[in-house]
Amino acid sequence: MSKLIDLKLLPTLAAKSEANWQRFLVKNKKKLEGMDLQVHALHDKISERTDCLSCGNCCRTLGPRITDKDIDRMAKSLRIKTSDVIAKYLRVDEDGDMVFKSMPCPFLGADNYCAIYESRPKACREYPHTDRKRFYQIYKLSIKNAYTCPIVFEVLEELTDSNPTKGL
Ligand code: SF4
Ligand code: SF4
Repeated sequence: MSKLIDLKLLPTLAAKSEANWQRFLVKNKKKLEGMDLQVHALHDKISERTDCLSCGNCCRTLGPRITDKDIDRMAKSLRIKTSDVIAKYLRVDEDGDMVFKSMPCPFLGADNYCAIYESRPKACREYPHTDRKRFYQIYKLSIKNAYTCPIVFEVLEELTDSNPTKGL
């Protein structure tokens, strides 16, 4: 495991690199469509050396969108009714999506473990999405995620070969 980027510094580092990431997209729009293998290899390499348990930033700050299937799974795992899952933990946000009532996530422990890990929402399982097919479709979303997630930040850094930490 490599040392995690200082989470307090991450937004500053991402802001420094964003112009470069945006330029990369403009210059390589077509090329990026054929770069899934390269992006996924970076995702695997960087995820492997990143300890999510010393981070937990996504679970503290980003609310996953929660589907009906997620609610069913959570209800089973918590052994309560789906209506109780909704009443106790969820709300509808301004876009009409079901999300956790409050963040940090109510299932995040002080040790950064997820209390419903095996039954966590699909969006949690898929985050930070840098291993998904057709990565080019979420490149812009990934720029946003790089302000929160060290894995996404490093994937974008290596992919676009910028280095904002130089001179810090
Ligand atoms: S359900 Fe688990 S993985 Fe999802 S945000 Fe909460 S603590 Fe994190
Ligand atoms: S996925 Fe990213 S933000 Fe979430 S815990 Fe892992 S490194 Fe941190």
